[in-house]
Amino acid sequence: MAELKILHMYPSMLDLYGDSGNVEILRYRCRMRGIDTTVVKHELGDRDTDLSGVDIIYLGGGADYEQQLLADDLLGMTDKIKAAYKDGVYFLMICGGYQLMGQYYKDSNGKKIPGLGLFDYHTTASTNKRERCIGNIVIETQLGDKRYKVIGFENHGGQTTNVKTPFGRVLAGNGNEFGSSSEGYSEENVTATYLHGPLLSKNPRLADKIIAYCMTRKTGKEYVPAPINDKLETECRKVLLERLLKKK
Ligand code: GLN
Repeated sequence: MAELKILHMYPSMLDLYGDSGNVEILRYRCRMRGIDTTVVKHELGDRDTDLSGVDIIYLGGGADYEQQLLADDLLGMTDKIKAAYKDGVYFLMICGGYQLMGQYYKDSNGKKIPGLGLFDYHTTASTNKRERCIGNIVIETQLGDKRYKVIGFENHGGQTTNVKTPFGRVLAGNGNEFGSSSEGYSEENVTATYLHGPLLSKNPRLADKIIAYCMTRKTGKEYVPAPINDKLETECRKVLLERLLKKK
C-alpha cells in the first residue's frame, strides 16, 4: 500500500487556532484514497529527528514567544531541512511557521528572531502591539489549471515583505501586510500562508493538491486523487464565501 510520511514540527508549540488539524485532514483525505500515513514529530530539543523518506514537512502557527523559544532548535535543523527542500519534499507552513522559514522575524519589541533562511522574504511587526491583521480572509490562488478561493482566519502583527511568488491574491482581509493585495508564499512544493482555519478543512482542494504532488513524486506516475464526498465542505464554503465576499 502507498504511504506518505509527514514531519510535524513543534506540534505542541505551533498549534494556534487548531493548526494541527491540517495534519488530521491530510491523513483523513489520504485514508479515503487508501494511502497510509505516518507522522513523525519533532519537538524542541529532539536531536535525532530522521527526515529520510519524509514527504511533507508541516509547521503550524505560534505566537512571538514560542517562535523565540524554538528559533535556535530550528536553526539546528538547517542542513536537513535544506536538503529535504532540494529533494522536492512538500513544505506546508502557517503564520509563525511561515515567518520562521524566511530570513528573519522582527517582533513588536524590535527583537530579531533569525529565520532558517530557506526563502528570501522577511517579516517585521509593528512596534504598536495593537496593530495586527486580524479577521477572516479570502484569497484566490492557482491550483493546477484552476483558480481556487482559499478561506481562512488571520491574526498576525508581522508584515511580510520581499515575497517574490505569493500564494494568492487577497479578495477580503489583509494578507502579507496591512491592506495587501498578496498573501503567503508559494513554489511548486511550498505553501506558506497566514491562513489558520485549520486551512485544509476549509479548503479541501488544497489538501488534495498536496497529496497529488507527494504521490506523483513518490511513485513517478501522475497521481490524481479520486473524488470523495465533500458535500458538507462544499456547503460550508458556499456559506462562508457568500458572507465574506459580500459587498458592503
Ligand atoms: N507571532 C507572529 C505574529 O504575530 C505569528 C502569529 C501567528 O502564528 N498567528 O506576527
